This record gives sequence, C-alpha cells and structure tokens, in this order.
Amino acid sequence: MPRNNTPLKVFDGHNDVLLALYLPDGKPRSFFEWSDHGHLDLPRAQKGGFVGGFFAVWVSPDPTSRKPDLRKPAGDDEMPSALPPAIDHPYALRMATAMTGTLFRLEEESRGRLKVVRTADELRACIDTGVMAAILHFEGAEMIDPQLNALEVFYRAGLRSLGLAWSRPNAFCEGVPFAFPHSPDTGPGLTAAGKELVRRCNELGIMIDLSHLNENGFWDVARLSKAPLVATHSNAHALTPTPRNLTNRQLDAIRDSDGIVGVNFSVAFSRKDGKREPNTPLEAIARHFDYLCKRMGPEHVAFGSDFDGTTIPNEMGDVTGLLKLVQMLRDRGFGERDLRRMGYENWLRVLKRTWRKSTR
Ligand SMILES: [Zn+2]
Repeated sequence: MPRNNTPLKVFDGHNDVLLALYLPDGKPRSFFEWSDHGHLDLPRAQKGGFVGGFFAVWVSPDPTSRKPDLRKPAGDDEMPSALPPAIDHPYALRMATAMTGTLFRLEEESRGRLKVVRTADELRACIDTGVMAAILHFEGAEMIDPQLNALEVFYRAGLRSLGLAWSRPNAFCEGVPFAFPHSPDTGPGLTAAGKELVRRCNELGIMIDLSHLNENGFWDVARLSKAPLVATHSNAHALTPTPRNLTNRQLDAIRDSDGIVGVNFSVAFSRKDGKREPNTPLEAIARHFDYLCKRMGPEHVAFGSDFDGTTIPNEMGDVTGLLKLVQMLRDRGFGERDLRRMGYENWLRVLKRTWRKSTR
C-alpha cells in the first residue's frame, strides 16, 4: 500500500478545546503553542491535518449549586444510569456568553490563522487557503430561553450549530445517560418549545446536532426538520451499545436525509465493552468507520473526534494521531476519494444545504 505524505484534510465534527482554554484543568495552555497537554492546539492541528471543526460551547455544572455526596465520591469510571441534573438558564447563559467570547478572542489573537465561519463559502475558502475554520456550536440548549431570544442574538453573533441536548434535561428535550449497555430510548421526546426551536433553527439556517439526544427526541427532529440529519460525534450502537451511539434505524434515517455521522474517538463509545480504558487499540475506532461506511455509504460518514472532551486511545495521543488513523483507514482499503469525502467534502455538502439562508 503506497504511503501518502500529505496529511488528509480533516474538518472535524466536535472538539471541547474552548472548555479546556476557559476552565483549564491543571496547567493552562495557549492554543497557539505546541503543548503536551490535552489534544488540540494550532501547531499540533497543522501537523495532524486538522483544518477546522465544530468548536463546542458546553456549560459545566454550576459549582455553587452542587450538593456533594461526602460519603461516597463518584468513581471515575462509573457509568451513571440517571441523567445529570438540569442547570439554571441564567447561569448557562452567562457561561455560554463567556465561552463564545473566548472563541472570538481566539479568532482575534490568531491574526488570521483561525476564522469563525458563518457560510459554506467561508468554510471552503478556509479549507483551500489553510486558515483553521471554526464553527460556533452549542452543546446543549440550556443557554437558550424558551422564547428563543438568545437564539436570535447568538445566531447573529455567529452560532451555526446547536446540539439540542447534552445529557441533562432542558426546556426543549432530554439527552441520554451514560449507562452501559443501554438503548438510546431513555425518555420523552421534544417539548412544545423544543419543536418551536427546531422550526426556528431551520428558518435561520442553524444546524441541529442529534448527538446526545434521546431516541424519541431524535425521531421528533427527523419528522420536523427540513435539513439533513446530523450527529456530529456518535458511533454505531451495533458495535458499542451505549445510548450515545446510533441504532441501525437511526443511521438509516440519517442516510436517507442525506445527512452525516461524525465518528467519535472516545474509547467508551468505540470499545465493545464500553469501558473508559485509554489503553485501547486504534482499530476500535477504525471498526466504526468500516461499519458506518458499509451501512450508510462513505458520503454520510465524517470525523467527530471529541478532542479535549473525552478519553481517546493512547495510540492516538492527540490531534497528531489523525495521521495514524487515516493511514490505518488506507490500509483497511479506504481510497483517497472516500477519505476526502469523509475528511471535509461531506460536511461542505451538508452545511451548504443546512445553512442555505446564510449562503444565499
Ligand atoms: Zn459531547
């Protein structure tokens, strides 16, 4: 098998680097300097072929409303079967505003090396010219009020992608717990406000992300939304039966809508046993690429790393490990055409359709 030395351009479905920069865990790091901490920064991204992605704004639990269980601290690899508690809208709005501000400051500090993109044309131009493209993405809609005023404001600031739920319940829907093994059918579908949110996202041209949403919510969106269905960072439930992954029926619905699934690099969503074990071979992730491509076709599969938001295989290490993963996919028979589709062309197609209002 010939080795190809130009890294594949990978536009990626999900990263949590904004959280790592906003609330550094341990040693603070600069996005513009090579670091040995975490997964993603600009120099390492350039080495790995990471040309941009969805930069998530995720609201961490409000530390002032925590009730610690002093007798039994939660273990690191416990997989709770209950949903994490809902959070207050005012707190979520404050933190989401601060993290959105962090992304815009990052853009300014980058002096032209990173751009927050709002249209498919801008995204394509960044990929062509080597400017890192960042999509402002909210993971969980807790910062949006049911009247959708915050949605209007954040859309105009640059919000182009919204995950309706993280695991916790909110005014619009419920996510899935991290129980294993478990079906994603864990609760009720969208509320009336949730249905209205889908309608308004369609009108404005905000992509709706189905990763984390429970199955009833998924089918509500599938019925209501006029845009291709997208799960930015989820894998195949048939291989790893966590509720965070997608059943065959869900995968078929995404394919039939001309949508996309971004493959998550989390060991817990890739291993057969769902364990959060960093010592996991990279093949575990490659198997999900194989399965999803066979089930849906490579025009519906993409990368959805979850860099800086999850435990990835030691063999991958960080974003530079994309080189290894892509070579592994080549060795498993993926051709350059399909790799380019999964790398960024599928995203361009889906976002062009979804953002039609802003590309007019
Ligand atoms: Zn996530």
